[in-house]
Amino acid sequence: MGVASAHPIQMVLTDPLLRVGVEGGVRLVMESTLSARDRVGVQDFLLLENYTSEAAFIENLRRRYKENLIYTYIGSVLVSVNPYKELEIYSKQHMERYRGVNFYEISPHIFALADNSYRAVRTERRDQCILISGESGAGKTEASKKILQYYTTMCPTRHNTHYIRERLLQSNPVLEAFGNAKTLRNDNSSRFGKYMDVQFDYKGAPIGGHIINYLLEKSRVVHQNHGERSFHIFYQLLESGDNSLLTRLGLQKTNPQHYHYLVKVCVCRTFVMIFTLHIIYICNLLFSVSSISDKHSWKIVTKAFTVIGFNEEEVEELLKVVASVLHLGNMQFGVDEFEETHVTTDTQLKYLAEMISPLNLDQVLSARDALAKAIYGRTFTWLVQKINQSLAFQCSSVIGLLDIYGFEVFQQNSFEQFCINYCNEKLQQLFIELTLKSEQEEYEAEGIGWETVEYFNNKIICDLVEEKFRGIIAILDEECLRPGDASDITFLEKLEDTLGGHAHFVTHKLANGKTRKAVGREEFRLLHYAGEVNYNVTGFLDKNNDLLYRNLKEVMCQSGNQIVKQCFHPDELIDQRRPETAATQFKLSLAGLMDILILKEPSYMRCIKPNNGKQPGQFEEVLIRHQVKYLGLMENLRVRRAGFAYRRSFEAFLQRYKPLCPDTWPNWRGQLLDGVSTLVKHLNYKPEEYRLGRTKIFIRFPKTLFLTEDALEIRK
Ligand code: ADP
Ligand code: MG
Repeated sequence: MGVASAHPIQMVLTDPLLRVGVEGGVRLVMESTLSARDRVGVQDFLLLENYTSEAAFIENLRRRYKENLIYTYIGSVLVSVNPYKELEIYSKQHMERYRGVNFYEISPHIFALADNSYRAVRTERRDQCILISGESGAGKTEASKKILQYYTTMCPTRHNTHYIRERLLQSNPVLEAFGNAKTLRNDNSSRFGKYMDVQFDYKGAPIGGHIINYLLEKSRVVHQNHGERSFHIFYQLLESGDNSLLTRLGLQKTNPQHYHYLVKVCVCRTFVMIFTLHIIYICNLLFSVSSISDKHSWKIVTKAFTVIGFNEEEVEELLKVVASVLHLGNMQFGVDEFEETHVTTDTQLKYLAEMISPLNLDQVLSARDALAKAIYGRTFTWLVQKINQSLAFQCSSVIGLLDIYGFEVFQQNSFEQFCINYCNEKLQQLFIELTLKSEQEEYEAEGIGWETVEYFNNKIICDLVEEKFRGIIAILDEECLRPGDASDITFLEKLEDTLGGHAHFVTHKLANGKTRKAVGREEFRLLHYAGEVNYNVTGFLDKNNDLLYRNLKEVMCQSGNQIVKQCFHPDELIDQRRPETAATQFKLSLAGLMDILILKEPSYMRCIKPNNGKQPGQFEEVLIRHQVKYLGLMENLRVRRAGFAYRRSFEAFLQRYKPLCPDTWPNWRGQLLDGVSTLVKHLNYKPEEYRLGRTKIFIRFPKTLFLTEDALEIRK
């Protein structure tokens, strides 16, 4: 593609917010392969003259979004804004445009990120990972699917491994059916964190995969908020399972509201059990989700089961588990309100009912719910393992994709937000470790002086949460273990005693005996790297204990269902140790994740949700500013601008740009360092724009590189 006839470097962008500074003037960066439309704003925030201004940052996002340019870089970090409409930018032709092309040669895209990681795997043989973050509905899962599509479409195929590609792709609909649900924020919201290794052989063909799941929101099985649903699979099965299957599962082809667990819409307990017409009416409104076709999804899921390698019996066993959860929800305990009693005729359930009958009604209901959650949660993990078996291959390198919950701040924040935000602290810590430290190491290795960059190291907050004995999780576990009067409030008091005065921990109590109004009496506030969050302690102990009565476990171990049998192993009953609490399990799994990621070279994608209405074209500034803050984008930009934006080996640099200098063209015969030095002098690079290391040239501003690229294009 050609360049504008006027000298591109002289083009002027009039808006001062978006100006790109160049000595003696202002210019718009030109890119050889970009059309005029692609050049709206700047495609890399590093180019903003006003790079410390949040207003300039958001204005750039807005302008590009209006033109459907949803991707923008901060150096190598890809920022995206959910378009909430299908864009014609993901076809195979688009994929081809990005193959083997460098970031700065073409407009920003998810495929560029995917391709960049792939090339690094191929040329440097170094495992990669792509870390995708953003709040619910921002587009993380869609992005990870597009990356996977890129690899399965564009990478070479190994003989006889076509089916693995299919399995890689088909693992998504299965996991989504069991792990996704409609929420107020996203009609297809992933209710679990997911890390997936895409595995490649020595020729770069994708030949396998491995998935690790994190913290499934099991509570959704027994309870959903207004306007939300349980996991998709329940509705898919009830809506589309054929009659004979449903009969075998003891289910009726009926509206989901027949099942108590699917109608829990924040009504008080007794009301939930009484099916008034009114509730049925509400439910009818709730169950149909405009953007979800359960029928269509069911077809996809059942086909995916086959592709992944489930046989018919296994699928049926799995669906039996799903059905059993619904039956559990309908179990009745002889209390007056519960008139319908058909399920108690089931011997297994009768047995279960007897096991828990000495409890009072509240205890029975919570024991039943705990069982339903345990069955579903463990089955989900079983499912992931089963998929992993079908994807297992010997591989030589991997690209990991992390699609995990972003920072969450709601009106009311509970144990779940505490875990999720802790996870984000850990990822930020990793970002600092990997990006800043490795940057520093490289500068040292290359003999280039490191200029200290001021940034906030959030290790102090990670420690606050996870430290042995004194950390919040340790204190929570201690309260969970303590017999007697331990409660959420005593937990809060312990926190105050141990952590009062910590720079990142606050409660309503002030040192002078007065009360801090902004924090409730049942809350503690953490000053996270991304901002302040108040957590309400109500329910912390129960959620952390996540207890299941021993005799319920015993029943489960005796189950005839092969999946349940695998999920509840008798060893668990012999083991005298107390099972790990939910927070400790999560902490350990995050530590495992960090161990995996630290060995890989990371790329980052930060997704932004432009509005709460899931509407195309609506750019709600307040909402976006909030996310820019919580995603730490301004800090990211500041840190990147402080160092060198790009570096390339002398060899690669010379190879590409040698046509621009008569002394290096067609070949440079001397030392590479001298060649690069001659070349950049000829190109008039100013001393502050670059440094020459031992093997690489470091370029401080991307604009320097863009100008050089332009020159190359003009020469053509
Ligand atoms: P998250 O995983 O961050 O919660 P999703 O990836 O599920 O969010 O995206 C939510 C919804 O937004 C999707 O179901 C889809 O409708 C829309 N969406 C997300 N990314 C894109 C995209 N690149 N193009 C078109 N629509 C998108
Ligand atoms: Mg998701």
